[in-house]
Amino acid sequence: MAGEQRVISVFGSANMDLVAYVTSAPSLGETVMGRAFHTVPGGKGANQAIAAARAGARVAFAGAVGDDAFGTELRAALVDAGVDTGLLRVVPGPSGVAHIVVEDGGANSIIVIPGANGTVTGPDEEAAAVIGRSRALLLQLELPMAAVVAAARLPGAEVILTPAPAVPLPGELLAEVDLIIPNEHEAAVITGAADPGEALEALLDLVPEAVVTLGADGAIYGSRDGTRLRQPAVPVEAVDTTAAGDTFAGALAVARAEGLDARHALRFATAAAALSVRRRGASPSMPSRREIDRALARPEDAGSL
Ligand code: AMP
Repeated sequence: MAGEQRVISVFGSANMDLVAYVTSAPSLGETVMGRAFHTVPGGKGANQAIAAARAGARVAFAGAVGDDAFGTELRAALVDAGVDTGLLRVVPGPSGVAHIVVEDGGANSIIVIPGANGTVTGPDEEAAAVIGRSRALLLQLELPMAAVVAAARLPGAEVILTPAPAVPLPGELLAEVDLIIPNEHEAAVITGAADPGEALEALLDLVPEAVVTLGADGAIYGSRDGTRLRQPAVPVEAVDTTAAGDTFAGALAVARAEGLDARHALRFATAAAALSVRRRGASPSMPSRREIDRALARPEDAGSL
């Protein structure tokens, strides 16, 4: 596909999620019997790439996996979703893993071991060329900060940052970001403002556009041009909110790349995220373009879109 314009690039993490379901998590020194175990492809970068591809964009994913069986599986999951993995490098050693313990009732604890993700220093020449030809570049913070900054600095694509995990953001990164999409917690960490409305205003001192996602309460949007929007969530029975934020970010990037205005892009992303929380799992729960369009066309089925 050399020479064609990629609509969306994602530079980020790929992890294998190792998920154990237990009645209650073991305390230090204790052994408990679990009920079930799943390996699920994840990582915020790979999740956003899959969400964007399923939402209808051509997507290139750049990052790294290890030379182990998980690396092969992670690539296969991206390819299955239609993501171009030509820029996904294989490095010696283990792939990134997230060791997740889920208790009855949904409370979880997570250990992330970056593995191959931690070896990434920045987009290589080939990745930089593809990113430069993209409409949008989706970034998160599960790669080393220096690598994220190097990608953000590339000219060309609109830079959309999901600031997760929540860490202080260097000015050299913020200077390159066009749109930031934190959840409520991340917005509070970045700005010091506990109130999401206040956090939104503080974010607009840092970057030109911001969306703060509010879980079941939807999302708020602001732009330096003065626009302020509130988008309610679609009332659905939430089965699993894992990766709702990544689905939202991937779908929002697609809508913007297609030229939708802020209000319609928010509605599109909100519909996609609502569909994802109705199903189990991270990437397996992400809706196809057909499902999103159907939900938008029939608001009576999808709540108050
Ligand atoms: P979060 O990362 O939890 O803030 O969620 C991101 C987006 O997913 C929100 O802005 C909502 O559009 C959607 N979402 C999350 N949780 C729910 C829920 N329980 N019901 C409906 N939509 C949700």
